[in-house]
Amino acid sequence: MKTIHCPYCNEQVSNITVRCPHCGKTITGEAEGSSKYVAGAKVSASRSGGIRKLFWFVLVLVVVAGAVYLLVLR
Ligand SMILES: [Zn+2]
Repeated sequence: MKTIHCPYCNEQVSNITVRCPHCGKTITGEAEGSSKYVAGAKVSASRSGGIRKLFWFVLVLVVVAGAVYLLVLR
C-alpha cells in the first residue's frame, strides 16, 4: 500500500483512500492526476522554451538579413 500526501491538509493517507480521514476531503485520483499534470506541464514548458529560442533565433536572423539587404542596396 502506497501513501500519498493529502493535497488539502498534507497528512499521509493511503492512495486508495476515497476520503482523507484527517480533513474529510475527497482525494482519490486527484493527487495522481495532478502530479501527472505537473509532469506534463514541465515537459510542455521546456518544449515551448525551445520554440521561443527558435523564434528569437529566426527573428535575429531576419533583422540581420534585413540590415545586410539595406546595406547592399545603398
Ligand atoms: Zn486531508
